[in-house]
Amino acid sequence: MSAQPIARVEALYKSFRGPSRGIGRGRAELRAVDGVTLDVMPGETLGLVGESGCGKSTLGRLFLRLHEPTSGRIYFEGRDITELSQSQLRPYRRKMQIIFQDPYSSLNPRMTVRAALAEALRVHGMVSSASDEQERVAALLERVGLRPEHMRRYPHEFSGGQRQRIGIARALAVSPRFIVADEPVSALDVSIRAQIVNLLSDLQEELGLSYLFIAHDLHVVEHVSRRVAVMYLGRVVERATSQQIYEDPRHPYTRALLSAAPVPDPDAHKRRLILEGDVPSPLNPPRGCPFHPRCPIAEKGLCDREVPALRVLESGHEAACHLA
Ligand code: SF4
Repeated sequence: MSAQPIARVEALYKSFRGPSRGIGRGRAELRAVDGVTLDVMPGETLGLVGESGCGKSTLGRLFLRLHEPTSGRIYFEGRDITELSQSQLRPYRRKMQIIFQDPYSSLNPRMTVRAALAEALRVHGMVSSASDEQERVAALLERVGLRPEHMRRYPHEFSGGQRQRIGIARALAVSPRFIVADEPVSALDVSIRAQIVNLLSDLQEELGLSYLFIAHDLHVVEHVSRRVAVMYLGRVVERATSQQIYEDPRHPYTRALLSAAPVPDPDAHKRRLILEGDVPSPLNPPRGCPFHPRCPIAEKGLCDREVPALRVLESGHEAACHLA
């Protein structure tokens, strides 16, 4: 594996303007991404996990510059793309694609599958004639496990799993190198999830793709990720290899996320932590460690005052916790 990341964000912040705080008091600031540095290596899947509202989808879009960062840098294949204009970004757009949680909402209901896939090909000048277009669309459908004759149908004629296959085909149409898969299986029946995850794995092997695989459930990314980053309130709170995260989670939030589902390892029960309450509002984040109001082992006077930095615990394993 090459030492240079295919995609990297560095000290990245993204704030949105929140609701008004009252007459003459301006607007609140909603910090969705709070100083994240993260990279995705060529050919790997980096799992990005956290509850809804933790900023993971915003971070995924920042990687692709579908959102503009408030500050920080974004790199693709070693090139700083943070300030490239839309026309300068064009050659990179082709190499960076996104798969959405709900492909139905991203597919035009009045467009046939052929039209939807051909649109992506045409935008990037990748077809030379109508017959070339038809051949390419047929090949894309076969690659994702659909049949060429499906190209004449409309999105509503497909099941959820088939629609996600169309979403994947559309992302693949322009021969990307890096794909942000934003909760690609969360909206699907449990029975279909493994099929889509396996399809993404097979495509990765076949085409040498790199994925940022976003999920709210750590178990979804367990078998596909080489490394995992856990996010809480806009920050990365633990980052490690999959083996380290699943066998020896060090941040109480990661341990609580893993506790949320049955674990076959009996030793894991000794470390079980139950997550209570909701994620605090990013409009009014807690002082000190952002996790302290929910943390079962928080230390008064320390955790409610000092923000823990992400620090190296052992090779490849980092956590942002005073007590890790
Ligand atoms: Fe819990 Fe304190 Fe660690 Fe935060 S720093 S996760 S509050 S123990």
